[in-house]
Amino acid sequence: MPLAVTHVLLTIILIDLYRDYVTKHKRFFSLEIVLIGGVAGLLPDIDIPLGWIMKYFGINIVHGSVTHTPWFALLFLIPAFIFLNRGNRKSATLYFVISFGVFFHIFLDWFLGGGMHEGVMWLYPFSMQAFKLHLTSMIGWKNLPAGIDAILLLGWLWHEEVKHKIKDFI
Ligand SMILES: [Zn+2]
Repeated sequence: MPLAVTHVLLTIILIDLYRDYVTKHKRFFSLEIVLIGGVAGLLPDIDIPLGWIMKYFGINIVHGSVTHTPWFALLFLIPAFIFLNRGNRKSATLYFVISFGVFFHIFLDWFLGGGMHEGVMWLYPFSMQAFKLHLTSMIGWKNLPAGIDAILLLGWLWHEEVKHKIKDFI
């Protein structure tokens, strides 16, 4: 399964690239929003600590279920469109980014392997059928997640060095 670092880093990198090269509205697409987007990239896995807590109350939460369906991602589009309607572009951007972060987490779990062993219920609640590609187990390379982490971190540092000359600030 993708490690927490992969989820957070990859989401931050994608959002940051989008912010740097596609939308250049940095006034309401703040760095803070990029960071919150990274946290949202881990949000579906909240069912893990929630499962530990709820166990004490006799409630069993299956990791990789409802918080790993597109519905959970779509939920954040509601406040996004409400804020957009009111002309509050900064708050709208925030919720669009959270929605993307959640959706991207589900995609990564489907693609690399994570969540439920059976895969992701893309069509929930219309169908409980689970789908998976799970590249990690497909090629049988158990160290792949750790390798991805290392490559991501180095690649991103290099990008930041080139793009923002971070060396000047150390
Ligand atoms: Zn997950």
